[in-house]
Amino acid sequence: MRAFFIYAIVMSSTLSPCPPALHPPAASAGPVGDAIGNTPLIQLQAVAQDLPDTVTLWGKAEHLNPGGSVKDRPALAMVRAGQRSGAFDSATHALIDATSGNTGIAYAMLGAALGFSVELALPANASAERKQLLQAYGATLHLTDPMEGTDGAQRMVKERVARAPDRYFYPDQYNNDANWTAHFETTGPEILQQTDGQVTHFVAGLGTTGTFTGVTRRLKTHDADIQCIALQPDSPLHGLEGLKHMPTSRVPGIYAPDEADAHVTMQTEDAFAMTRRLAREEGLLVGPSAGANVAAAVRLARTLDAGMVVTILCDTGARYLSDTFWENATDKTP
Ligand code: PMP
Repeated sequence: MRAFFIYAIVMSSTLSPCPPALHPPAASAGPVGDAIGNTPLIQLQAVAQDLPDTVTLWGKAEHLNPGGSVKDRPALAMVRAGQRSGAFDSATHALIDATSGNTGIAYAMLGAALGFSVELALPANASAERKQLLQAYGATLHLTDPMEGTDGAQRMVKERVARAPDRYFYPDQYNNDANWTAHFETTGPEILQQTDGQVTHFVAGLGTTGTFTGVTRRLKTHDADIQCIALQPDSPLHGLEGLKHMPTSRVPGIYAPDEADAHVTMQTEDAFAMTRRLAREEGLLVGPSAGANVAAAVRLARTLDAGMVVTILCDTGARYLSDTFWENATDKTP
């Protein structure tokens, strides 16, 4: 009898006339997409030894996302937003972008997991590991003139899209609201939940600015007094992969500099030193932008009498193993 009722309900809902959907439904994020986010918030202890008990320091372990970085979140959000708006039909379009960085790796992973093509333009002198990683996920690489840097790669993408607009979806993370919204909707709420709403300070480095902008906007809706500090490299020629020196960079359209309570800068060497300490003293193998974030968070924490300082561990250090900065073994604190 019960089975009949269920059958009747299913049949009646199947048969009832249904208005056409305004947008095609977003595709499921699938098992890999669903594994993005909900990363642990790890208390940093060895690098925070000199802080009073009333001040604690926490790293959001974004390197534990399936693609190894914080960029898995906005990459998935931009794909889904493109599908929802109809700009991305993953059956007929290839996703194209100019990045060999973490966003490119996230796109390549999602393309494999969700079954769409990914084409990435990058300067031919991008590191061998990067190219191998992207190819391992099955992405198509277009190598551009190394002398033209990332500008050349971006130009190639724009030319390809202009020539065959029906073939491509170009997410343009620097100007895409789904980039910061991903952090407003996931990273920010997770930090509030994991700190029981007690977070007092947030520190994050600026690349596309999506992480800083999205998390800051979310934390401020909870408590406008939470202090949000934006970090940049201290010079145009720096070694902090993923971060931008804004005064000499093309400024992202989504950047909202006035929303930061303070801006700080970081020297590459200080970030490298903290990256080594995180590996050797905390057991956290993360990249130099995470080192920069933690170094800035420690400096800030030292000025406080009480507080809960949260920062971002942006990507895995496995991506930088061939870099020479690991070799310095002298900066372990006694
Ligand atoms: N660190 C790394 C390693 C990155 O790849 C990025 C992304 N460019 C960032 C930090 C900065 O993140 P966002 O783009 O959200 O500002």
